[in-house]
Amino acid sequence: MKRKRDSIFKVGYVIGLLMVSVVAFAWYSHQLKDELRGLVRNTLKEVSSQNVLVMQKEIEGDLAALDEIAERISDMGEMEEEEILDILRQIEERYSFKRFGFCRADGILHTTVDEMADVSEREYFKASMRGESCISDPLIDLMDGEEIIVFSAPIKYDGEVIGVLCAPYRMDSLKDVMEVSSFEGEGYTYVIERDGDKIMDSTHPTSFQNMTNIFKSMTEADERNYQSVEDLKLLLENGETGYVIFYNKVGKYMYSTPLGIKDWFLIDVVPVDFMENTSNYIIHRTYLMCGILAVVCAVIAFVILQEERRKKQRMQNLLYVDELTGGNTLARFKIEVERRTQVHYKNIAIIMMDLDDFKLVNDLFGYEEGNKVLRFIYRTLQESCREEEFVARSTADRFYLLLFYEEEKEIRQRILKMAENIQQLRLSETLEYLLHPVFGIHYVQNGDDNIEDMLDCASLAHNLAKQARNGIYKVYTDEIKEKELQKKQLSDQIEYAYHNHEFVVYYQPKYDSKTQKLAGAEALVRWRRSDGQMVSPGLFVPLAEESGFVCKLDEYVFREVCIAQKRWLDRGLGIVPVSVNLSRRHLDNPDFIDEYKAILDESGVPIEYIQLEITESAMFEKKDEFVQIMEKLHDLGFMILMDDFGTGYSSLMMLKSIPIDVMKLDKSFVDDYDDERGERIIRCVMRMAQDLSIAITAEGVETEDQYKFLTSVGCDMIQGYYFARPMPEEEYELRMRA
Ligand code: C2E
Ligand code: CA
Ligand code: CA
Repeated sequence: MKRKRDSIFKVGYVIGLLMVSVVAFAWYSHQLKDELRGLVRNTLKEVSSQNVLVMQKEIEGDLAALDEIAERISDMGEMEEEEILDILRQIEERYSFKRFGFCRADGILHTTVDEMADVSEREYFKASMRGESCISDPLIDLMDGEEIIVFSAPIKYDGEVIGVLCAPYRMDSLKDVMEVSSFEGEGYTYVIERDGDKIMDSTHPTSFQNMTNIFKSMTEADERNYQSVEDLKLLLENGETGYVIFYNKVGKYMYSTPLGIKDWFLIDVVPVDFMENTSNYIIHRTYLMCGILAVVCAVIAFVILQEERRKKQRMQNLLYVDELTGGNTLARFKIEVERRTQVHYKNIAIIMMDLDDFKLVNDLFGYEEGNKVLRFIYRTLQESCREEEFVARSTADRFYLLLFYEEEKEIRQRILKMAENIQQLRLSETLEYLLHPVFGIHYVQNGDDNIEDMLDCASLAHNLAKQARNGIYKVYTDEIKEKELQKKQLSDQIEYAYHNHEFVVYYQPKYDSKTQKLAGAEALVRWRRSDGQMVSPGLFVPLAEESGFVCKLDEYVFREVCIAQKRWLDRGLGIVPVSVNLSRRHLDNPDFIDEYKAILDESGVPIEYIQLEITESAMFEKKDEFVQIMEKLHDLGFMILMDDFGTGYSSLMMLKSIPIDVMKLDKSFVDDYDDERGERIIRCVMRMAQDLSIAITAEGVETEDQYKFLTSVGCDMIQGYYFARPMPEEEYELRMRA
């Protein structure tokens, strides 16, 4: 569910990012286009004003030249036509005019090419006769039909206009001047009047052919030009500079500038494409760069994602693949159980398994062999799994199974079969070593859906199976859980009781077997609840041992005994050594020795009055530490009593390596004194102890017969109900006085 939400979120994120990029890109290119358009307009404007200058120079220059000639002729005074024409013929070549002509007020024109014409109706003639210099509108040359404009200036005598000097100018020359510069041959120029009538058209192949009026030509060229015609009209009317875009096959800019000559306008035309080529080039380059950038980003993102995926895969492998067996880990198991139990509605069993003494396999055969065993077990379990069933290993030799079943007995049979298969493994040719797998089974009930709870139940059953010697499996039941719960509650209560001073020390006297006099005592902890009820150490000591809290209890007993002994000593009572129990959990924290020594010193009691009892089975787990601690305690001056002698695995080995002062013969031996074998064992142990100069105390002596027998075989001290039960301090005090 979460993964799905994650991926929806991711896709949304990518789409969002894409949209933002597209919008940003669109905005940017819009902005870029705008700026480039501005650039285009500026270029057009510049070129246009250049053209205007060229045009003005050409026309105004010519008019000024004509004016100057007219003035000179005027200054020369009265002359005949022929005289004037001669002068004009001499200078004619210097100017770009077609020819010169002169006429008097009658309007009959005499020309330098000896032709004559009547210009009396021409506007320029009339204007110049009024004393103005002027340029005509385009005209048709009366002599050769060419298109011309005529420049004219008055000739005066004594301030009176007596005639007009005219010079026709070929329209084509003007076109030639204009068409040199424009836009690599792509552009061309018109000159028009305010009302759109043509003054000068263009020979450019893409220009309007036979144009008479620009609005008319535009309208004819493309109906889309309606708006641009209107816009152009407005520009011309207002005498403004500006541009419109019109269509004549292709889109074109038309830039209009007032010429400053009559009401003529210079119109520069250039295809939109040409103008925008540069900007398009820039835009395309930008697109290309963006594209390349996007591709590079995408590639980088892809590589990063790929690397992330690989990393994730590696992490998952670490998490989900068990390096040793190549199989599944517990993390994977949990996920799979959750998934598979949701899909299958069959009965489910969760099973935990380990070997009874895998540590021994490692110790005896080495780690490599141990690993082989684990791989073998994994394979065996996996082979016995059916479809959709699942196996995993967590740590060390701990395995988990998810099995499906119709009837519970099926599972039990399958488990026995698995155990049998596992026991097929032969570890050594020479050594007969049988693996002993132990299973905890939990039949998952309807409604159980928490995987951790399921595993806990399987683990509880497994613990019980391990405690029961030689059991192969145990099935989880609610009663088991109930008991565990009680244990847990009790364990929690122990700490509370400690702080509430509910623990007290009882003393069980030990008697000299020969003299039957008090020779020592063992301090035993008791839990007296606030309601006076006594809780047996058999119930709470193992729990306190599990949690480690027993060390606190031991220290408490040790201190109480030290203080009590000192008090009794000071009061002149005939005190005897008191032994205090030391839990195996002290091996975890060897610093306790210093603390014990400090407590002892503080109390001021001589060390010979305090003895330490430690059970021999403590050595099994941490032999080296055990030996070291025992030696240190012994060196300090404590007497070491070996508790429960004969119940551990290594009684004999211990005698060799540990400085033992007293051996406490376990009650189980004492109980068996009257069967022949038991008797022999006791005698044998006694002899051995005597040889090693170790004193013997018999525990749990309940009857006179036991007492007599033990005394007869040389037992030094007797502890047991026969003489005394464990008792409170005050009662023990009385025993000391007796
Ligand atoms: P243990 O150290 O072997 O102590 C001897 C146990 O045998 C005591 O049981 C004692 O009451 C019992 N006992 C003595 N004589 C007889 C007898 O004639 N018949 C029978 N049936 N039992 C006899 P208790 O006090 O219930 O303690 C049980 C165990 O709890 C102790 O066994 C010891 O392992 C542990 N324990 C008791 N007090 C302490 C303590 O202060 N520290 C530690 N670490 N363990 C303690
Ligand atoms: Ca003891
Ligand atoms: Ca004992």
